[in-house]
Amino acid sequence: MAVPHRLEAPRRPRSAKAAPEPAPAPDLAEKALAVHRLLCPVYGCPIPYFHALDPVSELVSSLLSHRTRNADSGRAFKALRARYPDWATLIAAPTAEVEATIAGVTWPELKAPRIQAVLTAVMERAGGLDLGFLAGMEVAAARAWLEAIPGIGPKTSAAVLSFSVLRMPALPVDSHHHRVAQRLGLIGPRVDVGPSHAILRAQLPADWSAQDLYDNHEILMLHGQRVCHHRNPACGRCVLAEICPSARLA
Ligand code: SF4
Repeated sequence: MAVPHRLEAPRRPRSAKAAPEPAPAPDLAEKALAVHRLLCPVYGCPIPYFHALDPVSELVSSLLSHRTRNADSGRAFKALRARYPDWATLIAAPTAEVEATIAGVTWPELKAPRIQAVLTAVMERAGGLDLGFLAGMEVAAARAWLEAIPGIGPKTSAAVLSFSVLRMPALPVDSHHHRVAQRLGLIGPRVDVGPSHAILRAQLPADWSAQDLYDNHEILMLHGQRVCHHRNPACGRCVLAEICPSARLA
């Protein structure tokens, strides 16, 4: 398996200044809403949150999860929790030992030093292993604060804010979500996962709640897993077929 140069897309410059959201084309904003309305009844919005972790633990969980099946990253997270009483102990542990503990994930040799480096940076920049202060920031500023740390990209920053107990209105985009959005024409064929975060978020109402954005991510991800497969999308039973330019109908 090829080893990537990095685990996530390039991040923004080292600054806590939030980049402005791109203005969406009105027709794409309408389409994004139509997709949401069509998929919500299928997957049952509001969708229960699958995690209730503190933000630092969610950060570790998210770093483990890149290009890895949920079951494998979940096992690795539990193994870290069982081996180390707290995240400070993990920072001080031999990297080879951390790598062995997370051996079930993809690229443990990259993720072990990456997790230790990211947690060290959090400790230095936040004055401790506590990210609860992000709750008092605007989402864009909180994301910029996180993404200023090498190793944290848009997907990880959004996951920390959305999936953790912070429950902030951020939109994560995983590979399934990204593929479905691309086939629907919400993003262009050359837009990578990282840059797609700002584009897809800007298509949705600015005042949407954390639950609304979480639902949007979940329904697009679930649709990618269950219907709009990587190979052979099941367009014949897709509720989006009428508005999808990629629909392959017999
Ligand atoms: S119509 Fe086909 S390609 Fe389009 S979203 Fe549905 S399953 Fe995917």
